[in-house]
Amino acid sequence: MAQHFLLSAAAKTLSLASVFRMTDQEAETAFCKLRWPDTEGAPVCPHCGGVDPYDCRRPNGAPRFECRACGKDFSITSGTLFASHKLPLKAYLAAIAIFCNEVKGKSALAMSRDLGLSYKTAFVLLHKLREAMAAELKGRTLGGNGKVAEVDSGYFGGYVKPANLRERRLDRRFGVNQSGKRKAVVVIRERDGNSLPAVFRSEGQALSFIKSRIAKGTIVNADESANWNELHGRFEMKRINHEEAYSLDGACTNWAEEFFSRMRRAEIGHHHHLAGAYLLRYAQEASWREDNRRASNGDQVSRLAGLAMKNKPSVDFSGYWQRHILAR
Ligand SMILES: [Zn+2]
Repeated sequence: MAQHFLLSAAAKTLSLASVFRMTDQEAETAFCKLRWPDTEGAPVCPHCGGVDPYDCRRPNGAPRFECRACGKDFSITSGTLFASHKLPLKAYLAAIAIFCNEVKGKSALAMSRDLGLSYKTAFVLLHKLREAMAAELKGRTLGGNGKVAEVDSGYFGGYVKPANLRERRLDRRFGVNQSGKRKAVVVIRERDGNSLPAVFRSEGQALSFIKSRIAKGTIVNADESANWNELHGRFEMKRINHEEAYSLDGACTNWAEEFFSRMRRAEIGHHHHLAGAYLLRYAQEASWREDNRRASNGDQVSRLAGLAMKNKPSVDFSGYWQRHILAR
């Protein structure tokens, strides 16, 4: 049997131990290269684009620059997802390494214990990393002529715990006995390609999302749910009835199921509860992990840190405890 990718040497190019062995200067250089790849790490003013700033390091050693052209000052993280950061840069690199190494997800509580952070700091940091992952999915369309994509959905949240005594238990199949918080995560996944999730109240509401994000000419695979019937008008469809088989005559939704398998394991094993405002971010995280699953951990860390440094300050969090989730 072929060796599992995560056991191979190719999967392991960066260890947490090596991050901790870095000096502050090395961590700083690494972040400069991610922030300013075009100048190979030489600082560029985010206000005017000036490339020749003074080095005005803070007395505590924190790197800081003042632009010769416009006179404004900035740091390595100004205008990025890590703007106004409070922790040393090395801690961010360590957090990203821990986050990537845990292939199904990382709970904020465990991260807070790993790095000696408060729960809230770890929670906000992890959500900023999810926001960085989501940036890569923005505006994505999948498929194309002759390509194959799969769509599927899974329900998350709104669990109603049955009462202890049998006679007090409610029939949770009726809407009136449900919490109303259950939501459908719908995923589009191209075979041998990328994925894209979205959140809806129910599976049936995902049709216009699917139509707008799958290119014409794509062969779309879906299960037997009647909600997908309308897609036959737009795409060549292959349907698989899971009562009969999981895969038959090339029709299957196994790639999409793989995404849900990862997300369910994140829910059960790490987060215990995926629902509400953050559900979309967890789905986007699962999607990013799925798409990058064959990249080495070193590449994943650089990619994610690079996304965080390219991203504008957080829309979900602005240096403070939770606000709200805006975009889909
Ligand atoms: Zn400037």
